[in-house]
Amino acid sequence: MEPSSTEKAFSPLCPHYRKCSGCQLQNMPYPRQLRWKQARCEILLKRFGRVLPILGMEDPLRYRHKVQSAFGEGRDKKPLHGVYQSSTHAIVPVEDCLTETACAGPILRDIEALCRRFGVLPWNFRARKGILRHVLIRKGFATGQIMAVLVCASPSLPRRQEFAAELLRLHPEITTLVLNVNRDYEGLMLGEEETVLFGPGYIEDTLCGLTFRISSRSFYQVNPSQAQRLYQAALEMAALTGTETVVDAYCGTGTIGLSAAAKAGRVIGVELSAAAVKDAEENTRHNCIENAVFHQGDAGKFLLSMAREGQRADVVFLDPPRGGSSPEFLSALCRMSPSRVVYISCNPETLARDLQFLSRRGWKARRIRPVDMFPFTSHVECAVLLTRREVSR
Ligand code: SAH
Repeated sequence: MEPSSTEKAFSPLCPHYRKCSGCQLQNMPYPRQLRWKQARCEILLKRFGRVLPILGMEDPLRYRHKVQSAFGEGRDKKPLHGVYQSSTHAIVPVEDCLTETACAGPILRDIEALCRRFGVLPWNFRARKGILRHVLIRKGFATGQIMAVLVCASPSLPRRQEFAAELLRLHPEITTLVLNVNRDYEGLMLGEEETVLFGPGYIEDTLCGLTFRISSRSFYQVNPSQAQRLYQAALEMAALTGTETVVDAYCGTGTIGLSAAAKAGRVIGVELSAAAVKDAEENTRHNCIENAVFHQGDAGKFLLSMAREGQRADVVFLDPPRGGSSPEFLSALCRMSPSRVVYISCNPETLARDLQFLSRRGWKARRIRPVDMFPFTSHVECAVLLTRREVSR
């Protein structure tokens, strides 16, 4: 097919745009991206309630504070890092991605050079040979602390101590260095086995006035400054007065519930991942919060058992994954009938489906606030306040 005249004229910000497929909206200037996301939310959600203007970023570049780079062999068999080309395991060598924190590019470049120098073989996906598979870099938005994780196919990184010492000499800004071992051929990027080569093995960040400890595998928002705006919008919708019982469903490491704790009577979090619940409990302790508890399990089953026991919540936050919530959870929510529900969504399509379910059962979306957490991509997050239809605002 012939490219359209706009495509011909378009020169992307990033030279890897066509091969990388990470940024679907790079063909639009940022204000247009925001209009596109606003329109998408309005098309899908306007019939349920008022869609407020999207909260965009003042500076939409360099927002990713979690950076993953794949290592592999170039044509010359030498180490190369970048992203896997869509549906292949060929590496597109991305030296610098404009959505990523500026600290990542130079560290990745030097790790690649150290691999050449120390004879560390990068992972060869076809032959399933080699050592270094990925590098993960996380940076605290407020603290500036930096974690580098070398994800290897086995723990025997050649001349490991020398390699680590040289990397830390070149990058004294790295506050912790971790070797993660992933022997699996498919599946998740990180393995279970880990050795801390330098520092505490985690970084800390502050969000909504609380400190969060982030290890290699902890879930933590990729764009912390926008996450803070999203949570603030959600907390405003909850309008807590200090006495409420609050449920934080799909709570991850507890960021929303813990941010609400100071303004609530008590907080009950529920989350499927045991590791995330452990992090949430740790975050509760070191922030000296005494009115929050976390449970591991399916949010739907948990809410249903609360409703069956006649337990009430005044406010329920839910922040499900892209697939949205479940009919079981939403039915239990209706049965429990809290005064306010704040639905935080990362997918307006499943949000529309769930709002349809709730609106048929007497709930009304009072306001919907889109937030742009991922500039240049097609993703858009929303916070929605719901109350029962007969209840006035
Ligand atoms: N509220 C958190 C995390 C949201 S991500 C934050 O903002 O940081 C969605 C979370 O839902 C993930 O942590 C995932 O593990 C969890 N999850 C997925 N399915 C679930 C289920 N059926 N019950 C409870 N939690 C679930």
